[in-house]
Amino acid sequence: MITVRDLSKVYRQGNREVRALDGVSLTVPEGSIHGIIGHSGAGKSTLVRCLTMLDKPSSGQVEINGVDLTAARSDALRKARRRIGLVFQQANLFDSRTIADNVAYPLEIIGAPKARTREKVTELLGLVGLADAGAAYPAQLSGGMRQRVGIARALATDPDVLLFDEPTSALDPKTTDEILDLIQSLHYHANLAVLVITHEMHVVKRICDSVSLLEGGRIVESGRLVDVVNRL
Ligand code: ADP
Ligand code: ADP
Repeated sequence: MITVRDLSKVYRQGNREVRALDGVSLTVPEGSIHGIIGHSGAGKSTLVRCLTMLDKPSSGQVEINGVDLTAARSDALRKARRRIGLVFQQANLFDSRTIADNVAYPLEIIGAPKARTREKVTELLGLVGLADAGAAYPAQLSGGMRQRVGIARALATDPDVLLFDEPTSALDPKTTDEILDLIQSLHYHANLAVLVITHEMHVVKRICDSVSLLEGGRIVESGRLVDVVNRL
């Protein structure tokens, strides 16, 4: 489960301040998919960076299963970060590594045993429908397949939270539907808390249980999908 409390981020540019996030709070329980929707400039990228501590929030807390990432230091933070699997708009794969080695990468980083890693990679490639693609290279795959690899890689360390940053913005409508189906099927299996950050309402409508509307760094609407959609 992920809990965000009163999260703010202020950027300083000379003597001007940009409040990119302004008191964002939200909770995503395990087994549910929460959407964050907002236009360009709403603060979505900043939120992704602050949730993963790629950027330090100015104030507020981000808790994964009760562990506060904003208070954690180096070792504890590295551990806590592994509780979050991050999937980008473009899968951001290593072009010189095979698909299997891309998925294995997070496990290599933490020094997981090789046999365990091979087993896990096989399991994950099967899960995302790429059982036969392990030896291929990213350039040989379609955009949708690369995104599946990105999802498999994000799941490698058995995270509790999956964070999708514009997961389908670079895909055509048919591939988008396939990836959204995959995201939905995963969270039932793994009991993950899933957070999907997007500017596309159809993405939210198709897979999210609940949604928050981000505007100017603030959450201006939040609730069950049906309720929020009715209020918009
Ligand atoms: P989105 O991802 O929804 O398009 P961003 O998080 O990129 O929104 O940006 C939110 C606001 O914060 C914008 O006004 C943007 O210009 C500003 N911003 C984002 N990153 C920085 C930064 N590194 N320095 C200064 N301002 C920033
Ligand atoms: P997106 O809409 O995909 O978030 P942006 O154009 O908003 O892309 O931002 C691209 C990158 O530039 C992000 O890392 C963002 O934080 C940074 N950025 C956005 N606005 C500013 C700004 N005013 N000053 C400095 N960096 C910014």
